[in-house]
Amino acid sequence: MASEFEIIARHFTRPARSAVLGVGDDCAIVRVPAELAMALTTDLLAEGTHFLPGADPLRLGHKALAVNLSDLAAMGADPRWFTLALALPDADEAWIAEFARGMFALADRFGVELVGGDTTRGPRMISITACGTLPPALALRRDGAASGEDVWLSGATGDAALGLAHLRGAARLSAAAARHCLARLETPLPLVELGRRLRGIAASAIDVSDGLVADLGHIAERSGVAIELWLGQIPRSKALAECADAALVRDCLLGGGDDYELAFTAPAARRAAILALAAELGLPLARIGRVRDGAPGVTVLDDAGAPVTARSGYDHFGA
Ligand code: ADP
Ligand code: MG
Repeated sequence: MASEFEIIARHFTRPARSAVLGVGDDCAIVRVPAELAMALTTDLLAEGTHFLPGADPLRLGHKALAVNLSDLAAMGADPRWFTLALALPDADEAWIAEFARGMFALADRFGVELVGGDTTRGPRMISITACGTLPPALALRRDGAASGEDVWLSGATGDAALGLAHLRGAARLSAAAARHCLARLETPLPLVELGRRLRGIAASAIDVSDGLVADLGHIAERSGVAIELWLGQIPRSKALAECADAALVRDCLLGGGDDYELAFTAPAARRAAILALAAELGLPLARIGRVRDGAPGVTVLDDAGAPVTARSGYDHFGA
């Protein structure tokens, strides 16, 4: 059986590229240009809570890094380095190799470098800390929204939750829709380029990991504003549009987690710039609501202007 150090050397050590010092010492060393600040984020994925026992290691490696890159994207940061803390029940090298392959494929795609970590025996758990750089004054913070701004959403929400409902037998999807939704659930693509290009355009931003209404609720709270969403303007994927269960569709759209789309606010004067960016990136950006004065919170209105109740987002310690 491989030792901890053999595992690190074999699967997680690559020559340092952009880091001054990478895996193998007590700390990694990185250099940040004087005019930039570091954006730091950590996500923890625990077996049984975030993924099922027996989950495919390749896709798990992808997702563990993707959720962190999505946080950097939502801040408008350029992803640079990350560390990996891994608890494993055994030294199953086939599993580790697949996990590393999924993780490094995504890392290479975004030019982000693994510079350290920790490896221990225990119930399977993956925690990545990712570090990006950005000009600090241009960070896309949650507290930047102001009354009068538009609310925008990239892509479409709900597919990942619909995929999960499918896995649980709560939704019946066509083979094509199931493939699409499971790919969205298991191998989300972080919107890194969109995030960095929204610097100087968006006033506030968040990535949709816990559900559209819940996550926009964080912007509302932090900014001290009310957010109004227009249900009829929220884009629906083909898979969601095909689904006959209207209540499930609404729950997925408004409350489904794991989409990793970006929701953001921007002044009306930036509409043309945002639509031009959507065209340039080939990424749909939809205006789905507005920011108003009022008690912090999110209201969803139907086409007749009547409020719609939405399932709230996922809360690990909620009732
Ligand atoms: P220390 O005991 O000083 O924390 P370790 O013996 O845990 O160091 O780790 C040795 C080196 O391997 C360190 O540079 C650490 O960052 C790196 N490392 C450990 N686990 C991982 C991992 N899963 N991925 C990448 N680097 C790792
Ligand atoms: Mg250690």
